[in-house]
Amino acid sequence: LAGLRIARELGEESLLTPVLSRYWDEPESWTLATYLRHAGYQALRTALDTDPDQIIATVKDSGLRGRGGAGFPTGTKWSFIPQGDERPHYLVVNADESEPGTCKDMPLMLATPHALIEGAIIAAYAIRARHAFIYLRGEVVPVLRRLQAAVAEAYQAGYLGRDILGSGYDLELVVHAGAGAYICGEETALLDSLEGRRGQPRLRPPFPAVAGLYASPTVVNNVESIASVPPIIRGGVDWFRSMGPVESPGFTLYSLSGHVTTPGQYEAPLGITLRELLGYAGGVRAGHTLKFWTPGGSSTPILTGEHLDVPLDYEHVAGAGSMLGTKALQIFDETTCVVRTVLRWSEFYAHESCGKCTPCREGTYWLVQILERLERGDGSEQDLEKLLDISDNIFGRAFCALGDGAVSPITSSLKYFRDEYLAHFESGCPFDPHESILAPP
Ligand code: NAD
Repeated sequence: LAGLRIARELGEESLLTPVLSRYWDEPESWTLATYLRHAGYQALRTALDTDPDQIIATVKDSGLRGRGGAGFPTGTKWSFIPQGDERPHYLVVNADESEPGTCKDMPLMLATPHALIEGAIIAAYAIRARHAFIYLRGEVVPVLRRLQAAVAEAYQAGYLGRDILGSGYDLELVVHAGAGAYICGEETALLDSLEGRRGQPRLRPPFPAVAGLYASPTVVNNVESIASVPPIIRGGVDWFRSMGPVESPGFTLYSLSGHVTTPGQYEAPLGITLRELLGYAGGVRAGHTLKFWTPGGSSTPILTGEHLDVPLDYEHVAGAGSMLGTKALQIFDETTCVVRTVLRWSEFYAHESCGKCTPCREGTYWLVQILERLERGDGSEQDLEKLLDISDNIFGRAFCALGDGAVSPITSSLKYFRDEYLAHFESGCPFDPHESILAPP
């Protein structure tokens, strides 16, 4: 809630734009009664009076880009759903948020589950689906309970089920809890898991829009993308486009974590810089300086202090050699060993690799072996070349994006901190790991 509190204190002075997080701090923000007090389900009433194609056109015109990481235009994705064939259409909300450092969808669903439900009904109506699913990480039981309670409220109030608000439109919405696997956030592995199989990615194309759940046309959208739809319907395209750059318009949630004075969710337009966000978050923890950071979780190449003024939108972050991804800004100060950090991330990817393709299954295992050796001080220059060689054999050759994500921190850390890897050869890690550990809040 730090970002919301700061936005309120600064008012007009602030670049922060709480839309999704506008009333996260209200008592019982998650109930239908609170949501209705904040114009809840008004966008749905408007949508149900509008032609579905017109809603797709509005979302397309708004320029909303997928908030799950890839930034694919949401309205364009909806327009891929083939109309007029026999197969049913499905909407699947990807709520399997798992990218290291990413923690925006869970608070959104805890604080305002009805924002997601309203967005899901509008999206399902637009693509002419009569069944929608929210696929949630199984471990987050409080979020599961909250979503289930909100869905039950929505059914009771006539926003779900048969003949929604007397419009003649029917929709069933199911909350499905996965078993907690990073790979199930990959949209096709998610669909396999939802169908009751082991979650492993499918070959794309065909993309889910053509053959997704039960081989039928399916839109898979991230939680934040779907929750952004009702404000767009209410506020209009021009309002949404008044925020952020032309290619990446609108507001979004940035998750600041790590060595930052006030970690939390900061909602601001795309295109804000890390320097500006750190200004609101009280900067890097007192007495320390920024060493490196991730723009969008550990799957995006790390950046350094020289990138503080890069606008956080898809184009500019790509221009700086990374990816905006999930906007999970993990901040690391000078007490952090980059080799140790990259080793930790690599262990995560090796553990989460689903094993379907050889480059990822074998490659992530070998990356961990080499990084462990380097961190212990038993490595050599040859190992650095091996790291790059293995990374090269994974990047672009794995079945899904997990492989590319796994090598991003390795290649980028070697680009910026090769000397630090070399410094480990003498007598192991020169850092005291205790210095970088944060005191409990
Ligand atoms: P992608 O660019 O391949 O696809 C993005 C979306 O666009 C998908 O829904 C895909 O179906 C659709 N799409 C792309 N091209 C299409 C086409 N020609 N026709 C129809 N649909 C098309 O990216 P991806 O592999 O789905 O996801 C990778 C991203 O996931 C990374 O950028 C990463 O940041 C992110 N990620 C997020 C999390 C999280 O917890 N939110 C976890 C891991 C990774």
